Amino acid sequence: MAKTVYFFGSGKADGNASMKELLGGKGAGLAEMTNAGLPVPPGFTIATSACRQFFANRGKLPAEVETEISEALQRLEQETGQEFSHPRNPLLVSVRSGAKFSMPGMMDTILNLGLNDRTVAALADRAGPRFAADCYRRLIQMFGNVVLGIAKDKFEAALEAIKKSRKAHLDTDLDADALNEVVDRYKTIVSRSTGKAFPQDPYEQLRMARDAVFNSWYNPRARTYRQMYKIPEDLGTAVNVQAMVFGNRGERSGTGVGFTRNPATGTKEFFGEFLMNAQGEDVVAGIRTPIPIAELRNIMPEVYDQLRLISERLERHYRDMQDFEFTIQDGKLYMLQTRNAKRTGLAALRIAVDMVDEGLITQEEALLRVEPEQLDQLLHPVFEPKARGKVRAEARGLGAGPGAASGSIVLTPEDAVAQARRGKAVILVRPETSPEDVAGMAAARGILTATGGMTSHAAVVSRGMGKPCVVGCKELAIDLKAGTVSVNGRRYRVGQPVSIDGTTGEVMFASLPTVESELIRVAEGKLRPEKSALYAYFKRFMSWADAKRRLGIRANADLPADARLARGLGAQGIGLCRTEHMFFAKDRLPHMQKMIVADSELNRRRALEKLLPMQRSDFKGILEAMAGYPVTIRLLDPPLHEFLPKEEELREELRVDKQKKKKNLQKIRRAQKMLERVEQLKELNPMLGQRGCRLGITYPEVSEMQARAIFEAACDVAGRGIEVFPEVMIPLVGHTREFELQREIIDRVAQEVFRRRGRRIPYLVGTMIELPRAALTADEIAQGAEFFSFGTNDLTQTTYGLSRDDTAALIQRYVELGILKSDPFEVLDRRGVGELIQLGTERGRRSRPKLKVGICGEHGGEPSSVEFCHAVGLDYVSCSPFRVPVARLAAAQAAVKEELGEPETAHVTA
Ligand code: PEP
Ligand code: MG
Repeated sequence: MAKTVYFFGSGKADGNASMKELLGGKGAGLAEMTNAGLPVPPGFTIATSACRQFFANRGKLPAEVETEISEALQRLEQETGQEFSHPRNPLLVSVRSGAKFSMPGMMDTILNLGLNDRTVAALADRAGPRFAADCYRRLIQMFGNVVLGIAKDKFEAALEAIKKSRKAHLDTDLDADALNEVVDRYKTIVSRSTGKAFPQDPYEQLRMARDAVFNSWYNPRARTYRQMYKIPEDLGTAVNVQAMVFGNRGERSGTGVGFTRNPATGTKEFFGEFLMNAQGEDVVAGIRTPIPIAELRNIMPEVYDQLRLISERLERHYRDMQDFEFTIQDGKLYMLQTRNAKRTGLAALRIAVDMVDEGLITQEEALLRVEPEQLDQLLHPVFEPKARGKVRAEARGLGAGPGAASGSIVLTPEDAVAQARRGKAVILVRPETSPEDVAGMAAARGILTATGGMTSHAAVVSRGMGKPCVVGCKELAIDLKAGTVSVNGRRYRVGQPVSIDGTTGEVMFASLPTVESELIRVAEGKLRPEKSALYAYFKRFMSWADAKRRLGIRANADLPADARLARGLGAQGIGLCRTEHMFFAKDRLPHMQKMIVADSELNRRRALEKLLPMQRSDFKGILEAMAGYPVTIRLLDPPLHEFLPKEEELREELRVDKQKKKKNLQKIRRAQKMLERVEQLKELNPMLGQRGCRLGITYPEVSEMQARAIFEAACDVAGRGIEVFPEVMIPLVGHTREFELQREIIDRVAQEVFRRRGRRIPYLVGTMIELPRAALTADEIAQGAEFFSFGTNDLTQTTYGLSRDDTAALIQRYVELGILKSDPFEVLDRRGVGELIQLGTERGRRSRPKLKVGICGEHGGEPSSVEFCHAVGLDYVSCSPFRVPVARLAAAQAAVKEELGEPETAHVTA
C-alpha cells in the first residue's frame, strides 16, 4: 500500500517541493519550508491519492489510510507536547485543503479544531477567557458552515443580535462573557439545524472536517473554477492538518500575506498586508481592510526584518515570485504557506524579464513563466485620455486588476450574469466578494469592492480572470436592499454608469470610452515604440519566444487594417483571408445579389465584372500590408442564400407592394424572382450544403473572378516593387476532383493575367482540410495541392457531428457531466479531430514531402491546441490578430517543453 500521509516538523519533512501532484501546492510548500529550516508549525498532509480513494470508495477512506492518519496524529502530539482532547494541554489544529493547482477561495478551511467544552477552559487558562471563547465560536461557525452546511447568515445574525444587545460596534468590542453567549447561541443553531449537538470529540471533528475538505472538491464553486481554468476534474485535493498558531492572541500577534514583488505591476518591492490581532481568514476574506506590510517595521521591527529575509530566501530558493502567509503569535513569526504567486499579465511579463536580468532564471524558464493567455491581458483597453480628463474620480480604492472597464452598476452576481447575457456591459459592485460571486465576476466587465485588500478574494480572482478590479474602496456604502451605492453623500442606483481603473484604483460614476492598450497602439503605429516601457519588455520577451519556436505564426485577417495590426503583433503572414466578408459590404451586396439571381452565365459574368475591381482593391490592401510575407486568400465559402434578403422580409415587401394602389409591376416582378431564388437556394442543412468549393464548382465564373482579382492585385503591388506571395486556398474540399477542377481555373487565370501584365508572380494553390474525407484522402489531394490548412472549426463540426452554431448549451452540459473535458470548438479534441490532423498531414506528406501544413480554425490561437500543432509537426498556426502574441508564446513554450522533455499539458478535451 503506497504511503498517503506525509509528516512535517522539527526541520524535516517526508515530502518536498517536487511533490505537488501528491501533496498539493500547499502541502509541498509546507514540506519544502520545513526542510529549509524555516519556522513552520508541525503537521501532516493527507495526499491527493487519499482523496481519490475516498471518492472511489463512496466517501470512505481505506482502513490503512485511517491508520496512517492516527499515527501521524500521535507524532504531532509528541512533537508539540500536546494531546488531542487533553483537559490541560490540548492540541488544536487547522485543517486546510490544498490541490495541485491553487484555487483561491475555492476550497474550505477550518481553524481551532480540537476545541470543545473541556479544552476551551484549558485554552482560557493558557491565553485568557476572551481569546478562548472567540476561538471556540469561530470553530463552531466555520465547522457549522463548511462541514455541516449551515448557512453563514444564521451565525452572522446571531452574532449581530448579541452585538446589538451589548451595544458593541465591532466583534472586538465583545468581552468573554458576550462571546460565551455567542458560543451557546451557535451551539443551538447547530443542534437545531442538524438535529445533533456540535461534536465534542476532536477525533470526530477531524474526521468530519477532513471528509468535508475532500467533498468540497466537488462543490459548485470549485467546479466552476476548474472549468474556467481547464483544471482536470479528477486530480482531487490534499488535506493539511497543522498545529495551530494564533494571530489573534493579543496585540503582539497578527497575521498577514505577502508577495516578494508587486503582483499587479511586477515592480520589485516587498509587498503585502497584515492585520494585528486577527486570525488568518480575516485578511483573505476582505472583512477588515489590512495595513500595508511596511508598517510592520514600526510595530515589530525584528519580525519585519526576519520576514523580509525569509521572503528573499524563498524567492531565491524557488526562483520565482512567492506569495506567502504568515502568523505572528506573541511576537514569534511562523510561516504557514508559500507558493508561486498569481500575478497579472503585466506583472508576469515584467518579472520574467527582470529575473533573467537578475540572473535568477534562464530565457527558456522565463518563457515558461508567463501563461500565453496572460499576454492577452496586455492588449486590453485603457480609458480614452481626453474623456478621462473631463471626469473627476469620486472614489479611490486599490488597483487590484489592471485595465479600464465601464458599465452599468449591478449589485448581485445573479444580476451580472443576467445582464451580461443580454449583451450589457456591467460592473459588479459588492461590499466584498466570496466564492459564490465567481460566475457574476466572470460575466462582469470589472469588479469593484468596498472592503478588502490586494489579496482579498475579489483581487485574487479578478487577476486570475484578467479583469479590471478595484478593491477596498472605503468611500462606497452599498445598500443591497435599496439597490444603491453612496459615495460621499451622492447616491447612485443600479443601472447607472460606473467606470473603474484597475491600474490606479480610481472610480468614476460616468460612462467612459476606452482605448486600446499601449501595445496595440504601438502595433498599429499610433505610438512610437520608444515611448512605451511596456513595449520594451514585450519586445524583448517575444524575441526570446520567436528564437525558440518552430511553428510559424500567421493571422486570420480580411481587412488591410487587421493585417497591419497582425504584423505589428508579430504575424508572419496571413493564414486565412475569408473573402465572403468582403461581399457583405453595402456597396457590394446588390451586385452579389444580381449575380446570384442571374438567369444566364452572361448576366452572372456582368455582375461579377462589377465586383472584380472591388475585390482587386481589397487584395491589394492586404498584400501591401503583408509586404514580403505570404497571404492565403480563400475563395468564397458560405452558402449563396446568405447573400439574399430574408424570405419573410421579401414576402412582407411583396404583400405591401401588391396592396398599393399604384403598383410598380417591375419592382414586384423583381421581388418575386428574388423570392423564387431564395426558395430554390434554401437549404435545411446549409452547413452541409452548397458551400465552399461546391459553389465554385457550380459557378466556375465566381472562382474565375476571384482568381483574376487576386493575380491582378498581386501584379499591381509587385509592380510597385513590393514583394508578394499570394496563396490561393480552396475551401471545403472533400474529393480530390473538386480540388483539381478549381485548381485548373486558378492556374488558367493566373497564366492569362501574367501574360497580359507581362509579369510572373510566384504563387501556391492549396486547400482547406475541414472534412474527415479530405483528411482521409489527403494523399490524393496533396498530389495537386501545395499546402493544407486545417479548418478545425468545420473539421470539429463534421467529426463530432455537432453543429458549431447551436450546440453551446449542449456542450456545456456535456462538460458538466464529464463526457467532455472542455468545449472541442475551443480546445482542440486531440483524440478525434487531432488524429485526423495527424493522419491527414502524414498522408499528405507521403505524396508531397514538402507539403506546407497549417491550421486556421479558432484553435490556432488556443495554447494547448498550438502545443498539439507543434507536436504533430505542422508548419504554422493562424489565428485572429489579437491572439498572435498568445500563439507566439504558446509555440515557444511547446518547443521549450519538448527540449526539456516535459510532458504536454493535461488540458485536453477527451
Ligand atoms: C474552419 O472551418 O475552421 C475555418 C477556418 O473556416 P470557417 O470558420 O470560415 O468555416
Ligand atoms: Mg470552414
